[in-house]
Amino acid sequence: MNNSYHTIKSVNEGLKKGEFSVEEITAEYLGRIKKENPKFNAYLTIFDHKTTNYKRFDRPELTVEGLQTTNLLSGIPCAIKDNILIEGEKCTAASKILENYVAPYDATVVTKLKQAGTVFLGKTNLDEFAMGATGERSAFGPTLNPHDHSRVAGGSSAGSGVAVAADLAIYALGSDTGGSIRAPASWCGVVGLKPTYGLVSRHGLIAMASSLDQIGPITKTVEDAAIVLNTIAGHDQLDSTSISPSRDLSDYTANLNKPIKGLKVAVPNEFFNTGLDNEVNNLIQATIAKLESLGAHIDQVSLPMINYAVATYYIIVPSEISANLARYDGIRYGLSAKRSSLLDVYLDSRAEGLGPEVKRRIMLGTYVLSAGYYDAYYLKAQKVRALIKQDFDRIFEKYDVIVGPTMPTVAPKLGELDDPLAGYLADIYTCPVNLAGLPAISIPCGFAELPTTNYQLPTTKLPVGFQIIAKHFDESKLLQVAYNLEQVLSL
Ligand code: GLN
Repeated sequence: MNNSYHTIKSVNEGLKKGEFSVEEITAEYLGRIKKENPKFNAYLTIFDHKTTNYKRFDRPELTVEGLQTTNLLSGIPCAIKDNILIEGEKCTAASKILENYVAPYDATVVTKLKQAGTVFLGKTNLDEFAMGATGERSAFGPTLNPHDHSRVAGGSSAGSGVAVAADLAIYALGSDTGGSIRAPASWCGVVGLKPTYGLVSRHGLIAMASSLDQIGPITKTVEDAAIVLNTIAGHDQLDSTSISPSRDLSDYTANLNKPIKGLKVAVPNEFFNTGLDNEVNNLIQATIAKLESLGAHIDQVSLPMINYAVATYYIIVPSEISANLARYDGIRYGLSAKRSSLLDVYLDSRAEGLGPEVKRRIMLGTYVLSAGYYDAYYLKAQKVRALIKQDFDRIFEKYDVIVGPTMPTVAPKLGELDDPLAGYLADIYTCPVNLAGLPAISIPCGFAELPTTNYQLPTTKLPVGFQIIAKHFDESKLLQVAYNLEQVLSL
């Protein structure tokens, strides 16, 4: 079996024809993970199908006959980011404070995937509590990029990105607060979809910044992303920010191969300012030309408020983090320092259990929310957030999609973005989308060739992601454009 064979679609077909069984394909993936994972550190927990929920391979829906009619995800092995709860399994959020925490219930997305009959292979590495753009801020070591092991995979859903890119899972779930699905997708050369805020339930996702967090798929193809979204999208009464139960959900695979002739595409000037690598820019321009050759109308536009997105994001996100992470006090969850006074339990559990980036954001958030600074920082940031959303709304009155790069560079070397500010700037094209609650996808659009210092070694080829952003709840259009492009890019 070659890599391209291992899509949801192709494995489903193989299962239905009886070419292999669910148990066989699961065993194949678990074997590969055990062998390959030490190279990448993509999985934090690897499940054993003999002892976990996969022992039920004889369920009627997983037999050749049953698979003819069940969900396309039936029997498909997948990876889950380790900030999404699976009942009875560890869920660490890649933090020492939750190192031995066992989830007491299933996240709603997990319930839905279980109902669909998918197979979970394990839990994937991330920046601690999903705070980071590289995957290096995990308490359990960085995840390495399969295209070049001296480079980062992209965060925070680093393990999910690598699991899919290195074929250690057929698909994976990640979460995206400011780019965490799209960054690893871009740097690892796979597809990453961040749905409209509210479309996918956040119940059972360990909260980072609740007004921006959103779960979504990382896959090998656009069609696979649509298939996963079909299963995980929908109203959930356990999530107060979930979409209304009356909202009609599309079949996201239905329009994929409809042509995009006449599509109106906006290209914001602000996406092409200093900071964007030349190599990346060339591939993005070539991809925009492909869109044009498919019959799309391309216009340059301006989204001036986007220039304030990173600053706004890094006020609002730490504020929400400081509130959400107050619950890790050494009493309610996970690590608890044994001290004689309650205050010392709080202080020392947090001091020992939380990493430097998490502490930095808690302090920043607590500061900007304090009585004296709330108006100057938090309230101001909320107002700018509203203006950023208005900027997008204005463009979407005339255009179907906005396109540009996902990340300003190719995957950096390990340690290159150690400076927190440098890391924050990597979110420049992704975080405005979360502030506005919009859906966006990153698809691979080519490889940048980097010369190596040693002339005897071949050049390093690193993947580049192309970002497409659509109106709220217009995932159908988003996926249609992405699919059409994917066919002509034929990477
Ligand atoms: N890099 C961003 C941050 O550090 C995004 C993280 C995310 O989307 N979870 O906040």
